[in-house]
Amino acid sequence: MKLSVEIDPRSGFCNGVVRAVEKAESYLRQGEKFYSLGAIVHNSVELERLKAKGLEIISAQELETLHDKSVLIRAHGEPPRTYRTAERNNLKIIDCTCPVVLQLQKKVREVYHRIAPQGGQVVIFGKTGHAEVNGLVGQTDGGAIVVDSIETAARKIDFTRPVALFSQTTKGAAEYAEVADFIRKSGTQVEVFDTICKQVSQRYEHLRQFAADHSAVVFVSGRESSNGKVLFDLCSSVNPRCYRIENVSQIDISVFRDGDNVGICGATSTPKWQLEEIFVYLRDITEQ
Ligand code: SF4
Repeated sequence: MKLSVEIDPRSGFCNGVVRAVEKAESYLRQGEKFYSLGAIVHNSVELERLKAKGLEIISAQELETLHDKSVLIRAHGEPPRTYRTAERNNLKIIDCTCPVVLQLQKKVREVYHRIAPQGGQVVIFGKTGHAEVNGLVGQTDGGAIVVDSIETAARKIDFTRPVALFSQTTKGAAEYAEVADFIRKSGTQVEVFDTICKQVSQRYEHLRQFAADHSAVVFVSGRESSNGKVLFDLCSSVNPRCYRIENVSQIDISVFRDGDNVGICGATSTPKWQLEEIFVYLRDITEQ
């Protein structure tokens, strides 16, 4: 079977994840023992690679009983209570919170303290339970409302009170605009903040074109990745022959046709090396 294969030049980790992974690797190289609070990246293959080098992941519950150690905070950020626990337990924090997320946390905190005394509500469009969303809710002492759709917005928001709307950084712009429009149409006073990360939004147009320009697309991302779901849905909307996999072993060769030009791309949590591994695999098949 003849295939031509190309990697999307703009796919690979976003800056926030690059920074966190590089920092983790530099500590691992120095042999310094530390723990990552939660998975450093939503990609099981990359996690296994880092675990083989000594990375240890702990949960929020485990953090409570950990003392006198170093703990890495990933790019998604953490709520203030994590920093309080660290202080209480004499933990050294290696803070890899992405600067974009830090700015967003600051803004959510400021706006909450400005509007809450007047009865205003901070609403976060994001995935309930996602680490970044938990970090944002923590800025409001748990007072923010999390919505993931128009339906949950309709159910959870009190439309007799003003609203300040923020988005998780990796959500899709179109979905966010729909939720914002829905709240506006309720007639309530609403302030909408543009908080989708530019690293994500700028990939949209490019990725749409990339998916359309190839007869088949292999999209690589962890199942847990919110950004992976958004970008995969985008690719699928312009190319029905779009296949989402987590690693090279999940490639199903039978989906390809002779002469296909295959595009390989991924989420902001998918490392470049993984795309290259799939490229080599498909190229070798082609040469058989
Ligand atoms: S997607 Fe954007 S905000 Fe989120 S970690 Fe990456 S660079 Fe930071």
